[in-house]
Amino acid sequence: MKAHDGMYIGGAWRPAAGTGTIAVVNPADEQVIAHVPAGTAEDVDAAVRAARAAFPAWAATPAAERGARIAALRDVLVARKDEIAETVTAELGAPPALARKVHVGLPIVVAGSYAELATAYAFEEKAGTSTVLLEPVGVVGAITPWNYPLHQIVAKMAPALAAGCTVVLKPAEDTPLTAQLFAEAVHEAGLPAGVFNLVTGLGPVAGQALAEHDGVDMVSFTGSTGVGKQIGALAGAAVKRVALELGGKSANVILPGADLAKAVNTGIANVMSNSGQTCSAWSRMLVHRDRYDEAVALAAEAVAAHVPGERVGPLVNARQRERVRGYIEQGVAEGARLVAGGPEAPLDKGYYVSPTVFADVTPDMTIAQEEIFGPVVSILSYEDEEDALRIANGTVYGLAGAVWAADDETAVAFARRMDTGQVDINGGRFNPLAPFGGYKQSGVGRELGTHGLAEYLQTKSLQF
Ligand code: NAD
Repeated sequence: MKAHDGMYIGGAWRPAAGTGTIAVVNPADEQVIAHVPAGTAEDVDAAVRAARAAFPAWAATPAAERGARIAALRDVLVARKDEIAETVTAELGAPPALARKVHVGLPIVVAGSYAELATAYAFEEKAGTSTVLLEPVGVVGAITPWNYPLHQIVAKMAPALAAGCTVVLKPAEDTPLTAQLFAEAVHEAGLPAGVFNLVTGLGPVAGQALAEHDGVDMVSFTGSTGVGKQIGALAGAAVKRVALELGGKSANVILPGADLAKAVNTGIANVMSNSGQTCSAWSRMLVHRDRYDEAVALAAEAVAAHVPGERVGPLVNARQRERVRGYIEQGVAEGARLVAGGPEAPLDKGYYVSPTVFADVTPDMTIAQEEIFGPVVSILSYEDEEDALRIANGTVYGLAGAVWAADDETAVAFARRMDTGQVDINGGRFNPLAPFGGYKQSGVGRELGTHGLAEYLQTKSLQF
């Protein structure tokens, strides 16, 4: 596949400072499809300087004009959507329909929302007799994961640019081609030079150099909780703004009286989508003991429709596949009952894992506590609502979840008591305008909508 051999810095593709490269592999057939440069601290420094130089003029650009540039960027993403979707399929392995609808469709909606919000947002407020100015934080260092390569980028870039910040992006090493296409789109949309800069590279090298750089005012990170803690510590030591979107172990709580078949089918589809590589995936299904056997049978039936190589793509790389298979083996070893799937590879080529359902999972098991990030669902039983709540809240995470009940009122009453950032009520749909982010170790800060924009602003009050 086509790839740039340089970095996008200061409005142009420039040669990388070093000679190292990263191979990009198609996880569906294990073939190398491209190479991109492995950025060094020197590349990061050049990108941060470009972002700093561009900051004053971009921050002073009227918000409506910034919104118009983001709208132009959205239009380029729309015009190039097929090419981007094919790239996501090639480097992530996402099935084409998912790539088009979710991987590219969702960020287009998000970019459109920030084009409008930039204009509509009140960057000035009154507090009694004072005027409060909401000003951009400055230069943002953004570090993104591979699981939704374009969405993760747009969910940071669009609000940061709307706020008036300038950005240096270090995308995941597994999916740099989508990031390069995004840089091309920024260029085509006519954003001023230096407002957006891209450095591809390894996390512990380029990512760390960006997180540590003195010229970066804020680090916005999405990825694992382990790396998030390191970045949080670095930002804390430097008194820098930080936003962290981390892991999850979300609960799909099916209360008595819910439409069981719908709740189970939706729950299985939720985890199988993107091969389970979704931080908000409902990886734990909680069912009342009276309907437990019925739910397990429905889950086994539902998962059969998720065929590897068709509806379910591979995992992103061999390391993730081995990690997920290790969790499946551990589930069996700790006494959970395999209802579907298992550790054996379903296809001879590609990093596929069998869609897997475990029954008889208890809350203390590793598969009920740790984020697996693969197509694996654990079904747990509960005695009563209090027990369900204890189990739902009984992990270090708190990113998302779902509640199904006979009516919305009952579901909402339960959702209010959940320690989590987002809850789908009786099959409610993901809303890209609603804030997304974690309680507890799932993160700090929010993405999307007005809350996502506010992350990139700092306040100044003027007293009269
Ligand atoms: P990861 O933490 O290994 O990598 C994420 C990004 O951080 C990559 O760009 C990587 O290069 C970079 N990185 C790695 N080490 C670094 C370091 N020492 N310093 C700076 N940057 C570094 O995570 P991953 O394996 O790519 O992604 C999977 C994880 O991300 C899962 O745990 C998942 O839950 C989480 N995730 C969370 C959300 C969310 O919104 N909460 C979304 C997607 C993924």
